[in-house]
Amino acid sequence: MESKHKEPLGQSPISVSPLWDESRQSWGMYPKTTSLVSPLHWRGQEFSESSQDKHPSLSYLPFGRGRSYGDSCLNDKNILLGTEKLNHFIELNNETGMLKVEAGLTLKEVLEEIVPRGWFLPVVPGTQFVTIGGAIANDIHGKNHHVAGTFGCHVKSLELLRSDGTRRVCSQEENTDWLQATIGGLGLTGIILWAEIKLKKIVCPWISRETLRFHNLKKFFEYSEDSDNKFEYTVGWMDCLSQGDDLGRGVFFRGNHLLVKEAAELKVKQERIKTFPFHAPEFLLNRLSMKAFNTLYYHTHPSKKSEIVHYRPFFFPLDGINHWNRLYGKRGFFQYQCVVPYEGSKSPIFDIIETFAKSGLGSFLTVIKTFGNSISPGILSFPKPGVTLTLDVPNEGQKTLRILEILDEKVVKCGGRVYPAKDARMSKESFKHYFPERPAFEKYKDPKFSSSFWRRVT
Ligand SMILES: Cc1cc2nc3c(=O)[nH]c(=O)nc-3n(C[C@H](O)[C@H](O)[C@H](O)COP(=O)(O)OP(=O)(O)OC[C@H]3O[C@@H](n4cnc5c(N)ncnc54)[C@H](O)[C@@H]3O)c2cc1C
Repeated sequence: MESKHKEPLGQSPISVSPLWDESRQSWGMYPKTTSLVSPLHWRGQEFSESSQDKHPSLSYLPFGRGRSYGDSCLNDKNILLGTEKLNHFIELNNETGMLKVEAGLTLKEVLEEIVPRGWFLPVVPGTQFVTIGGAIANDIHGKNHHVAGTFGCHVKSLELLRSDGTRRVCSQEENTDWLQATIGGLGLTGIILWAEIKLKKIVCPWISRETLRFHNLKKFFEYSEDSDNKFEYTVGWMDCLSQGDDLGRGVFFRGNHLLVKEAAELKVKQERIKTFPFHAPEFLLNRLSMKAFNTLYYHTHPSKKSEIVHYRPFFFPLDGINHWNRLYGKRGFFQYQCVVPYEGSKSPIFDIIETFAKSGLGSFLTVIKTFGNSISPGILSFPKPGVTLTLDVPNEGQKTLRILEILDEKVVKCGGRVYPAKDARMSKESFKHYFPERPAFEKYKDPKFSSSFWRRVT
């Protein structure tokens, strides 16, 4: 691969033109914050010059593309360090699949280069508009968690820049403890400059996908158990408002990379990107409209279907609609993602889903997936063995917060945890239960780095 730069922009001065940006927000559009935004142009040392000279008491936080939902990527009344200029490919070893890239590149940019060369990222989330740095800092997971673990499992090394100007290469051979703190470290250990990632070999961009409707939660678990050793990718969409015998009904998607070479000949159907034109008015966001949507979505999927699809609609269906988050109106929305013990039909997830279905809240998008047993490498990584549920919930103020707090109590009780990358409201108390590892993390945190999330939960 032609590298745009052999080295990260090592010695050029940081040229910071900080601006107070009042519109900085994450994907959930809640909370609204104001930050001093400094796009980053590198120099290796004397990091603390720049905007800190004028505002010595302010803290830093790296900012990827703001595809986190809550406030873990926000730093209200403090400094965000934009990483979009760190967008260079450094090296691809075509024999081993080892890729070295700067941390501000998005997964989309990376995939566009590597897929035609027969490689794929080892783990991808539900959108390709996240950066390599963001993927590491939240130790993201994908539809293949049951076989591949988290993104961090495939990071062989990275370089970390600290606010005192020191640079540290962290790998499985050196500074391993720093690697473990930075994977899932919420951007608080310093700035990741570049990372080396082990890619996965593929023969073509196509996925063979099966779609199966499941009529209740028990059936979801059956499909999941049956699929996890035959399919690399599995995930379920769920109608979160059905109750009684239909509780947890939904649509199961499973797939594998297509292995046959001929598939490469298939023509990509031109994808048309649509844009959600405005913030939806609040009167549209009611339980009735959400119930109608959920019912329709469930019934428009066939009970079983097999097809060959391109990797983009398979992995990133929502990327086909720009600004889909506007669907939730100007007040924004919460994404609530928890993981709780698996325990099959006795899983606490039954109670959590039933509580939500009866709560009076609704969600257009509810996703369920079983995590595998692999141990996440980060001290503060979210994934652990069990079943994970993701709910998008419109922000209706206190009512919403109260119900999510009730869900928290249930998750705490069964020893589960809630995902910081999606969170804008968990309490200090809950965070303490979810992440008892936090004291071990503290010594790696950069003293000049912080976030709105971190100040709220610690
Ligand atoms: C539609 C959609 C689907 C999603 N699906 C999934 C999913 O399936 N699985 C999943 O795990 N997540 C998922 N997410 C969440 C998303 O993958 C994570 O929040 C991701 O971290 C966002 O990356 P970003 O580059 O936008 O970073 P930001 O959101 O801007 O920042 C995230 C964190 O990374 C830190 N950071 C960013 N760059 C650097 C750097 N260079 N050095 C150090 N720290 C840095 C920030 O400080 C912050 O703490 C989804 C999000 C969306 C919008």
